[in-house]
Amino acid sequence: MVNVSTLLSDALNGHRLTAKEAERLLNARGSEVFAITAAADEMRECRVGDTVTYVRNQNLHVTNICKNLCGFCGFGRKATDTGAYCHDKEGIQAQAKLAYERKVTEICLLSGVHPGFTLDTFVDLIHWVHEAAPGVHVHAFSPDEVAHAAHRCGCSTSEVLARLKEEGLGTIQGTAAEILVDSVREVICPSKVPTADWVRIIKEAHGIGLRSTATIM
Ligand code: SF4
Repeated sequence: MVNVSTLLSDALNGHRLTAKEAERLLNARGSEVFAITAAADEMRECRVGDTVTYVRNQNLHVTNICKNLCGFCGFGRKATDTGAYCHDKEGIQAQAKLAYERKVTEICLLSGVHPGFTLDTFVDLIHWVHEAAPGVHVHAFSPDEVAHAAHRCGCSTSEVLARLKEEGLGTIQGTAAEILVDSVREVICPSKVPTADWVRIIKEAHGIGLRSTATIM
């Protein structure tokens, strides 16, 4: 088995890990994990010194009703399930206002992919948040939600992204990435956009200056 400290030393000296080497690090346990975090910290310090930045973020859950119902998810519900909810304008603005009063600088709209939501719903959500929390950065809408909005309005995903940006969206969410391998997605989240679509939508967003995150689940 490859030695973790050798791998970390190579990585710190500029070696790009192969898939097999990365897999070895993912399997690290115990003290090896501390060695990895120490190496990551060393690399962070080499690149940016002592400059640390952060945002005050709050997740705002609009709805847990979701068309996808991924196997691993404990959040998404069918509309008829006990505990299913979908906040209205008043509910969303109350949460956004509270976040604003707490000096939150970024609001992340984290929701299920509601089958009834359209591009106009997403635009409304951005406006409602900005009305209640002026100047806050809105981080919202995964590639899966963008694809859903495009499907509902009969337009392209790049048109959806352009409209959302124009309406005040700050960055898009790289949620729904999970694992970008279709054979895995077919098992854990078969209803989500396939890998190629996820990558295309993220590239379209970056192409118009909308930055993104990427979330592994
Ligand atoms: S799309 Fe998101 S919210 Fe919906 S079931 Fe999958 S992980 Fe859960």
